[in-house]
Amino acid sequence: MTSEHLTRDDWACKASDLNIETRLFVGGEYVEAQSKDRFETINPVNGEKIASIALGDKSDIDIAVSSARKAFRSGVWSRVEPRKRMAILQRFADLIESQAETLALLETLDTGKPVLTALEDDVLGSVEELRYFAELCDKVEGIVTATRSDALHYVLRQPLGVIGAIVPWNFPLAMALTKIAPALAAGNCVVLKPAEQSPLSAILLGRLFVEAGGPAGVLNIVPGFGHTAGKALALHNDVDKIGFTGSVEIGKLMLVYAGQSNMKRVTTECGGKSPQIILDDVGDLDTAVEGAVNGIYYNQGEVCCAGSRLLVQRGIYDEFVTRFEKKTRETIIMGHPFDPSTTMGPLVTSAHQKRVLDYIDIGKKEGANLVFGGGEGSGELSSGAYVEPTLFSGVNNDMKIVREEIFGPVTGVMPIDDLSQGLEIANDSIFGLAASVWTSDVSRAHRFARDMEAGVIWVNCYDQGDTTTPFGGFKQSGNGRDGCAETMLDYTQTKSVWTELNE
Ligand code: NAD
Repeated sequence: MTSEHLTRDDWACKASDLNIETRLFVGGEYVEAQSKDRFETINPVNGEKIASIALGDKSDIDIAVSSARKAFRSGVWSRVEPRKRMAILQRFADLIESQAETLALLETLDTGKPVLTALEDDVLGSVEELRYFAELCDKVEGIVTATRSDALHYVLRQPLGVIGAIVPWNFPLAMALTKIAPALAAGNCVVLKPAEQSPLSAILLGRLFVEAGGPAGVLNIVPGFGHTAGKALALHNDVDKIGFTGSVEIGKLMLVYAGQSNMKRVTTECGGKSPQIILDDVGDLDTAVEGAVNGIYYNQGEVCCAGSRLLVQRGIYDEFVTRFEKKTRETIIMGHPFDPSTTMGPLVTSAHQKRVLDYIDIGKKEGANLVFGGGEGSGELSSGAYVEPTLFSGVNNDMKIVREEIFGPVTGVMPIDDLSQGLEIANDSIFGLAASVWTSDVSRAHRFARDMEAGVIWVNCYDQGDTTTPFGGFKQSGNGRDGCAETMLDYTQTKSVWTELNE
């Protein structure tokens, strides 16, 4: 039976058969943490413990970094023939694909996201990304420059060395592979620190990499807390680069840690408050409404580029709000994440649920009008970290709920007079990750693309893209780009080699 046809009971049965690995992966094998301490991962559907995980800290990070450095210097990965590296990464992708259901279940247990979303988007999307970077292994080249004829000068492009990858919990596997894939393809060794809320899928990657033929020490995985393991990795003097995805607050710390240690390179992919502007010349309002609904509520709204500010031209404002509510009620089905009809699961933790519910309270106190939602789950869902899809109207750009990233299924809608006013409001933000415009006027679309201060622009769609397209922000949404060939260069450095040509 294909995965799409499995019932809730089928998934539950598969989940109960899982044999979950809970140890660190260092030097090519699973090991206990030096301290022997453990921490618990909790299922947000019911608040029950899923597993108790080895708790990595500074001493484990030290060992993992030294293992990665040793592997890097040995040349077993960095100097291996690129096509051999490519073959290993392709096998790694095959193995991830072969474990797709298991990985999807682990994602769902840890985060609460619907299992079919986890399967299709998180796992199979990650496989695609890994294959894309694997294919680039032998396509990163240096150059010979056009210098004096009695000299030969060339630029070598080489891997950086040891990469520290620090990732969040909203797409645990996908975020991990977004860093690991280009880093490994470029010939680096990696120490990955998954988010403490969602370490399960990352831990499994270690075994799959070695089974694929990846040498010991090239990929190390150290679950642990941010302020201990994460900080130790970011402050480590023998780490050459940190690839970070997470909040603005911690992203800024990464830059501080780099300055306090060895000036390692840092790329940050941080939060957003992405606007969706719907103009009254939009070709098909229903398509725009559907894009806007999915743009905010997909993945429980726990998406960095969630379209969390809706700016709608006055002439279609009322109709838009009516249709937005109808579409949400029809298509956003809050439920158990193993149920194939569920499109919205619980939030990642009860602490995060509380944070999102607090924002909803703040919105009410700020005077925003709650159009729908705002509550927790009821009945069977009351024991989970659920928050209903929520819409506020009567919002303005001074409100906390409009300025800050809520990272949940909550959005606000406000009317605008025209595109100029929409752009002014949209750009009045510390964030600049993504933005969309819905219009049938090609000049307006291009003007929006030119003037919108965001790294990712969508015209007449939302949340589209694939591994060929750069993803990353302007302003405090970060300084890096994920996906796309350019990203791989960020995991390399150039070396200038000048040779005098004597007679
Ligand atoms: P977070 O910043 O709290 O944590 C991210 C990672 O940093 C985790 O692994 C955490 O353990 C670690 N960390 C925390 N404190 C640390 C410290 N002092 N030193 C080193 N590491 C530390 O973010 P989160 O709550 O896990 O994730 C949500 C955030 O991620 C949102 O802001 C979201 O927008 C952002 N995000 C951005 C993108 C993007 O591509 N721009 C993608 C996904 C998520």
